[in-house]
Amino acid sequence: MSLQNPVFIPGPTNIPDSLRKACDMPTMDHRSTDFADILHPALKGVKEILKSKTADIFIFPSTGTGGWETAISNTLAAGDSVLAARNGMFSSRWIEMCQRYGLKVKVIDLPWGEGLPADRYHEILAADKAHEIKCVLATHNETATGVCSDIAAVRQAIDEAKHPALLFVDGVSSIGSIDFRFDEWKVDIAVTGSQKGFMLPAGLAILGLSQKALARTSTAGLNPAFFNIRDMADNYASNAYPYTPPIGLLQGLKTSCQMLLDEGLHQVFARHHRIAEGVRRAVKAWSMPLCAMSPNLYSDTVSAIRTPEGFNSTDIVTHAANKYGVAFGVGLGQVAGKVFRIGHLGSLTDVMALSGIATAEMCMVDLGLDIKLGSGIAVAQDYYRTDH
Ligand SMILES: *Cc1c(COP(=O)(O)O)cnc(C)c1O
Repeated sequence: MSLQNPVFIPGPTNIPDSLRKACDMPTMDHRSTDFADILHPALKGVKEILKSKTADIFIFPSTGTGGWETAISNTLAAGDSVLAARNGMFSSRWIEMCQRYGLKVKVIDLPWGEGLPADRYHEILAADKAHEIKCVLATHNETATGVCSDIAAVRQAIDEAKHPALLFVDGVSSIGSIDFRFDEWKVDIAVTGSQKGFMLPAGLAILGLSQKALARTSTAGLNPAFFNIRDMADNYASNAYPYTPPIGLLQGLKTSCQMLLDEGLHQVFARHHRIAEGVRRAVKAWSMPLCAMSPNLYSDTVSAIRTPEGFNSTDIVTHAANKYGVAFGVGLGQVAGKVFRIGHLGSLTDVMALSGIATAEMCMVDLGLDIKLGSGIAVAQDYYRTDH
């Protein structure tokens, strides 16, 4: 077994030592005032990272998927209609979850590698005169394809259609790594988890709710028990949880937010962009296309790289793990065997990224792909050694 870091999967991401230490705590009474000193700074930190002054933050012991479930089950009722686009594995899973809950999902099917189609959202919402659609689901960063969509454009589509639907955004692989503007985009629910941009172990579902979404939790809802927003809100008022909170992870989250804010959000996003750009230049030097269909869709947290026809991309991932002890991401769903993914988010530097690029190169040469050792590395080095 290799526990060698860095990993190049798009989550869970590398955990910095400071965060590992922050999570390592003795037992604490979770009804004590000491807990309030962990909970409230964590909530406040998340709010700042979402660039929001208005959101209420909720943190459940769960993962991003539990965060979606929280969003859906607290605000919608069986039979409600929602609008969603399917352009990868994660957007597909949102849709399936809604269907399991008995919601009617109006699906816009897109080729994987495409971004969210604001024009199609607009068209469908404008035609929904009866306002049957209660919410629009948008995956900000589709981790399966390395596609980052324009959420501001989705918001504009809803507004221009003069439609009251809520906007729910999956920011699991963007929040804390790519600019996310909760207030400016008038997001109603943003969802993420602890193990991606926040650089922590998995275990927390993190949500931001607008006041509009919050109001919906008292009137609508599938009446969830564990993931109940109102129970959580009531308990936060007395510095507690409706059940035993994962204090170590919350302490980690408090520290993680502080780390990101100390670095400066602008710097954090710029670092992700620079690292991603170096990876993309290397990929270009290998003459391999990205799954993302155009440069405006390129994700700064993950690159999904298409391998040549007839080659099984999963072999790269297996070989990297077995021979070099390095983790890359496999292709998921429709693009399984067709792409491999280099995750480049969280606790990562240019130099760490170079090790991933170099490893990918060795694997591809080992497996007989027509790539010259050092070709990608050289362009990435050249990019990283100059200021951007
Ligand atoms: C990782 C991820 C999820 C799933 O989150 P879990 O924490 O694994 O439940 C959902 N959406 C996106 C975009 C992701 O990257």
